[in-house]
Amino acid sequence: MLEISNLRVTHGPIEAVHGIDISVPAGTCVALLGANGAGKTSTLSAITGTAKSTGTIRLEGEDISALPVEARVKRGIALSPEGRRVFYNLSVRENLVMGAAIRKDKAAIAEEVDHWFTRFPILGERRDQPAGTLSGGEQQMLAIARALMSRPRILLLDEPSLGLAPQIVERIFEMIRELRSQGVTILLVEQNATAAIGLSDHVYVLNNGLVSSQGRAADYGNGAELMDQITGVHG
Ligand code: ATP
Repeated sequence: MLEISNLRVTHGPIEAVHGIDISVPAGTCVALLGANGAGKTSTLSAITGTAKSTGTIRLEGEDISALPVEARVKRGIALSPEGRRVFYNLSVRENLVMGAAIRKDKAAIAEEVDHWFTRFPILGERRDQPAGTLSGGEQQMLAIARALMSRPRILLLDEPSLGLAPQIVERIFEMIRELRSQGVTILLVEQNATAAIGLSDHVYVLNNGLVSSQGRAADYGNGAELMDQITGVHG
């Protein structure tokens, strides 16, 4: 589905990613793990077209690396950004409808919005309230649902567990697991290696802008060792 080769990402004079290869086969969940500043968000920004990059990014075989952001969204790339970034002053419903901005099938959009209200009754109960009044976990659910409203071919998730209590992280990961079992292709950026490995097919570890390790998720056990490396805990 997504093939990235020799990707370098720069922010002005700073090169954050130094030439990486990542492959996300259709229908799989691939985890991109690493510590703060490893280059995970920079990689996602290059895929969405919001950061300057060189190398090749192919979506279903098509080189999209020179396309502007909106054209990439139209081709099926959706991002649930780090820190959720829901529209605080818009209602829950309006946030979901915004996610479908590239679509014109109004009736189907309304049905899908209702689907999310049924799937997550808490969002349904608060459909007319500003999204800023939701808890962090609820905002995360909304951010993922909003991204899916564009009917993407691939869903990019940037640290969905960030700042959430362990119980809430479990619920968010349950949602991601369910999406994966429905065949949604996912690139999951996380620092929480143990949680991410539990639902991923393949793992890449980013370290200072380079892939330091990669392999089948099953080969990383429960991810505890990797988690220690990422968080800098030893012993
Ligand atoms: P985090 O978990 O903190 O988001 P990350 O793995 O996503 O970490 P990036 O945000 O991609 O890492 O950052 C990689 C490197 O690029 C860091 O050294 C960071 O300081 C730098 N960087 C990221 N964004 C910018 C920017 N807009 N301008 C300058 N430097 C940046």
